[in-house]
Amino acid sequence: MLYLALLLLLIAIFLLWQSNRQRRQAGLPGGRVVYTDTRTWGTLEKPLYDHALGLTGKPDYIIEQQGQMIPVEVKTGRTPEAPYDSHIYQVAAYCLLIEKTYGKRPAYGLIHYPHRDFAVHYTTELESALLEQLAEMRRDELRRDVPRSHEDPARCRGCGFRKVCNQKLS
Ligand code: SF4
Repeated sequence: MLYLALLLLLIAIFLLWQSNRQRRQAGLPGGRVVYTDTRTWGTLEKPLYDHALGLTGKPDYIIEQQGQMIPVEVKTGRTPEAPYDSHIYQVAAYCLLIEKTYGKRPAYGLIHYPHRDFAVHYTTELESALLEQLAEMRRDELRRDVPRSHEDPARCRGCGFRKVCNQKLS
């Protein structure tokens, strides 16, 4: 039993190390657990939009803090140990849109899961990774056959394109 527990612990450490390594290679910060006071959260009236990038989005909330506008994205469901990459990119996109719209660069954005909040630092590396993702999406828009980028059936089950997608996993 002790060996089994030890083995499971080693596997968990390996998976955590591997996911952190992949995230570092992609230039994504892992996210730092923080406490936030929801009473200070406000909302935007209109979505943010950047014509040059063809990017639009509306954070769930905005915190005004020391002259900065910090976007907050609220997620329901399971609280992960570390924020999902797609959620990191989403918050990064809000940081980018806030900088483009208001001329002030947020130092970070927040992801609010049911049991934990993460601060995701909006670094120049994260911004570059986001811009590369956006460029890749624009390239893919012109292609007829785009290969699936994951092996996650749950992601397909929650996808709005599954009715028309010929690569769905479930
Ligand atoms: S249904 Fe298709 S588009 Fe949607 S996540 Fe799955 S593979 Fe991607």
